[in-house]
Amino acid sequence: MQIHTDVSLRGLNTLGLNAKCSAFARVESDAEIPAVLAESRARSLPLIVLGEGSNVVLAGPVKALVLQQASKGIELLEDTPQSVLLRVSAGENWHQFVGYCLQQGYYGLENLALIPGTVGAAPIQNIGAYGAELASFVSAVHAHHIEDCSMLTLSGTECEFGYRDSVFKHRLRDRVVITAVDLRLSRVAQPNTCYPALQAALNERGCTAPEPRDIYETVIAVRTEKLPNPDIEPNAGSFFKNPVLDEEGAKVLVSRFPGLPCYPQPDGSVKLPAAWLIDYCGWKGYREQGVGVHDQHALVLINCGSEDGSPLLALAEKIAATVLETFGVDLEMEPRVYGCVDD
Ligand code: FAD
Ligand code: NAP
Repeated sequence: MQIHTDVSLRGLNTLGLNAKCSAFARVESDAEIPAVLAESRARSLPLIVLGEGSNVVLAGPVKALVLQQASKGIELLEDTPQSVLLRVSAGENWHQFVGYCLQQGYYGLENLALIPGTVGAAPIQNIGAYGAELASFVSAVHAHHIEDCSMLTLSGTECEFGYRDSVFKHRLRDRVVITAVDLRLSRVAQPNTCYPALQAALNERGCTAPEPRDIYETVIAVRTEKLPNPDIEPNAGSFFKNPVLDEEGAKVLVSRFPGLPCYPQPDGSVKLPAAWLIDYCGWKGYREQGVGVHDQHALVLINCGSEDGSPLLALAEKIAATVLETFGVDLEMEPRVYGCVDD
């Protein structure tokens, strides 16, 4: 493992932003982590962990040692007729791992196909899509504390998972390097078709009794058709989280904006689609200073030629301000910002 200085991260974030970091180390084995942490202390540089850079905005020079988690490996810890328990190294690519599980007959993750990024990053925001989320499968998360390199293991409950949220965005934010995730998957196929858009796409394909492979393939087909590919239009997925309001607040808004879709949550709160709010404010397809809002998907901000992240963050701020003014709703950014703004 080598530590490089002054490295451009352009190829390492899906927005294609050209920020340089002070130092960089790609870690392919957990045994290398203590040396990288020691080096960050020796150089008095904070340590930032990067997976595949699909949920970060690099706002400017990153004055840190960036550790890229690239450790690989899938270990079968338990195998019963009902379920398996797997330990998956943090650097495994998430989508490839989902495909591997399907091939092995380990079920549950099909709805989460084609989400970019690594397994190690998946617990950070409790990745979710098409009616499923990671939290349902996590048995434990293994990590090193950045501060003193001590190891810790958190149970699923201790991860404090919420809607695109976890303890890693709060108490443990930027304080751990996740090395592996333990996931319990079913040996029995239990297709999850609760998400209406997925059910509609399955119907269109004539899948009346879908198998896990049908779900997997349909999710891939819908995502490929609907969501911009970062290799062609650099983006970081959804730029804002869907806001969640209490029932009363949602009722008031629906009476003022009758077309506003509402998704009641099990705890009585109501989720609103951020894309609808942004679209209503007229942002879809907008462009300025080499950045913009995707033509078909108002929640996806794209980089169409900017070298640094500030124009993107400035646009995000304007969008959030108009949504606040129009609906009285605060939008929270989903990707993490590094480089100048909050490092
Ligand atoms: P990075 O972007 O590299 O890092 C994200 C954050 O996690 C950073 O704060 C980083 O420090 C931290 N981190 C990464 N790895 C580790 C580690 N090993 N230890 C400690 N901290 C770590 N998300 C969804 O939930 N659902 C979706 O459907 C979805 N679709 C997307 C579609 C597109 C086109 C794109 C570009 C993004 C999408 N995302 C989605 C967001 C993104 O894929 C996820 O957040 C993913 O988990 C990020 O993985 P990554 O390896 O790229 O993380
Ligand atoms: P969509 O199907 O057009 O729906 C728009 C939004 O409405 C979604 O964000 C979704 O919330 C919500 N929604 C729709 N039907 C719902 C229901 N029956 N119950 C509860 N919520 C409902 O969304 P899309 O943009 O094409 O994305 C499809 C899926 O992929 C979504 O689950 C989305 O989260 C996920 N995705 C995530 C990212 C990311 O970066 N985070 C990027 C692309 C896609 P949820 O987001 O809570 O599902």
